[in-house]
Amino acid sequence: MDRYIKLIDKLYQKHTLSDAEWTSLIASRTPELSEYLFSLARDVRERYYGKDIYVRGLIEFSNYCKNDCLYCGIRRSNRNVHRYRLEEDMILSCCREGYELGFRTFVLQSGEDASYTEDRLANLIRKIRRNFPDCAITLSVGEWERSSYQAFFDAGADRYLLRHETYNDKHYSMLHPASLSAKKRRQCLWELKEIGYQVGTGFMVGAPFQTAQLLSEDMLFLEELNPQMVGIGPFIPHHNTPFKDEAAGTLELTLFLLGCIRLMLPKVLLPSTTALGTIHPKGRELGILSGANVVMPNLSPTEVRKDYLLYDNKICTGDESAQCRRCLEQRMESIGYRIVTARGDSLNI
Ligand code: SAH
Repeated sequence: MDRYIKLIDKLYQKHTLSDAEWTSLIASRTPELSEYLFSLARDVRERYYGKDIYVRGLIEFSNYCKNDCLYCGIRRSNRNVHRYRLEEDMILSCCREGYELGFRTFVLQSGEDASYTEDRLANLIRKIRRNFPDCAITLSVGEWERSSYQAFFDAGADRYLLRHETYNDKHYSMLHPASLSAKKRRQCLWELKEIGYQVGTGFMVGAPFQTAQLLSEDMLFLEELNPQMVGIGPFIPHHNTPFKDEAAGTLELTLFLLGCIRLMLPKVLLPSTTALGTIHPKGRELGILSGANVVMPNLSPTEVRKDYLLYDNKICTGDESAQCRRCLEQRMESIGYRIVTARGDSLNI
């Protein structure tokens, strides 16, 4: 026990652990160690961000996807999905509604939808930029050529979310079709960083075949990339995927890793994800209490929410945007935090 307390102290003071240290800390975690970790993580988060919680309005604008990731409910092979694609005007009206609700960051997320070409997406970004000059525009639209990333940036996008999913090549290939690789994914991340985006990466906790050793590799990669944001959430099986019978990731491990990431990258933006809220009724509150400082409620039109299901039992699919916003505000207030109307740029620069 003492040995692991010392590792947590080292992480708190030096913001780094070796591969062997990460593996043993993750494998040997206990409820007592977690409590100690979370108190330090809250301390660090409050030093930089106080009790402020940033909100991002998530607009899931298309569920068409050319990829076939084994874990994902909107993978190409899933013929049971009702596919939709929001038109530009609809997306702009989601932004308008979000703006009025106090959102100053819009996250545009989709599957890899070939009919959303570079030009079409760049035009959309330009329009949002023109209409909402004081808002951050975040993209979460997968892998593109560097020149397209540049075009989106030039059109006005500020941030890009692209989870690395898992650092290890072999593990990556067990979760993805042969057309995708860990190396390519990481190359995209480095390119996004070079272009000047605020970059977010991350992984699923408890993904099939994941081990403490593999998570250690993920932590070392996060340290190396030093992103502005890190999104992690539990893997949750979807009934129409090859992983339908796999176990979901746990609340306990997700919280532990949130605390670790806060200590390793003190100024990083760390969302308490919808997936965390899906596996436990107080998941998002507990995420905040473990060191997270961002929530990402849904701004998608209610009609399409039930079609953007990456995993089973996703929460908030029947609610209006305003309801989601209010619900989260109350949840954050119940634990002594407050949602703020701000772009919420990362201090990790
Ligand atoms: N097409 C975009 C957006 C992906 S969806 C892209 O490639 O980046 C955003 C994230 O949801 C994924 O990166 C993945 O980590 C997560 N996700 C997908 N399926 C999931 C599942 N079954 N359980 C939990 N998270 C999942």
